[in-house]
Amino acid sequence: QAKKLGRNQYSFYTQEMQYVANRRTEQKRELRNALLNHEFEIYFQPLVNLRTGIVTKAEALIRWRHASMGMVSPAEFIPLAEDAGLIHEIGSWVFIECLDQALKWRSQLHPDFQISVNLSPVQFKHTAYFERWFNLIASAANTHNCLCVEITEGVLLDASAKTAQQLLRFREAGIEVAIDDFGTGYSSLAYIKRIEVDYLKIDRSFITNIAAESTDYPLVEAIIMMAHKLGLKVVAEGVETEAQLALLDSIGCDYIQGYYYAKPLPRAEFEAWVLAQQQQV
Ligand code: C2E
Ligand code: MG
Ligand code: MG
Ligand code: MG
Repeated sequence: QAKKLGRNQYSFYTQEMQYVANRRTEQKRELRNALLNHEFEIYFQPLVNLRTGIVTKAEALIRWRHASMGMVSPAEFIPLAEDAGLIHEIGSWVFIECLDQALKWRSQLHPDFQISVNLSPVQFKHTAYFERWFNLIASAANTHNCLCVEITEGVLLDASAKTAQQLLRFREAGIEVAIDDFGTGYSSLAYIKRIEVDYLKIDRSFITNIAAESTDYPLVEAIIMMAHKLGLKVVAEGVETEAQLALLDSIGCDYIQGYYYAKPLPRAEFEAWVLAQQQQV
């Protein structure tokens, strides 16, 4: 009986693994054509300034709409794109699209509009792409702080002099820098001393239970105090409830991002959302 059960479990397990492996292989193959086939789309999620209530910032979040697989989450395909070396082309497409979009929104929505673009640690291995971006930015008008790059603590893990230098180049090019998913990485706080960044984005996992009895509240309060003393602005990610918002407001959080205000939206819906929001404040 035990042996039979064991064998069934084993075969169930391998079928599951086989399915996951097949799906990965198919996605990796299909990813190669996705840019050419225009299957990527960029969604935008607003960051609300808690002091003013207005929206002058958005995070760009890539979406992959595949003909037969449907919407594939970036959490699923970005690691594959990194593996396959496709992240450089995809990431560069996102960056250049966002540069264009940010300049449009500076004239259509708000003169200081800024879009945040996620950068994968892998992208720091081929910095020739960065040089192209810096040239594009230098050759356009009104680009100062129109973009921000979000990096994770993983980029800073090998906080070699080279990474620090690259981040400095971004800031010299008039691009701000944010630490994404702050608090989930393995790196120490020491890098904040060595690397100049503009924003800390506190990971959603610290925000979820902030209103319940938990140690997350004092932790988040301490992170905000520390960040402010170092001259950084703080974004809370994944805010979903009024109670979370009220607490974050009371401890001086600067920006709120989360479903409480809006989910990531396609371009036209995002524009409509911001225009409606501007009517309210
Ligand atoms: P991230 O940069 O930390 O982005 C925040 C994620 O949290 C997004 O997931 C967003 O939809 C989700 N989120 C925002 N507010 C809430 C909320 O209130 N509740 C919940 N449950 N979730 C919320 P998404 O769009 O699936 O992206 C996942 C990750 O994929 C991103 O995490 C980022 O690491 C990566 N990613 C997305 N776009 C790009 C890109 O263009 N390039 C690179 N390299 N990575 C990207
Ligand atoms: Mg991000
Ligand atoms: Mg994040
Ligand atoms: Mg995250």
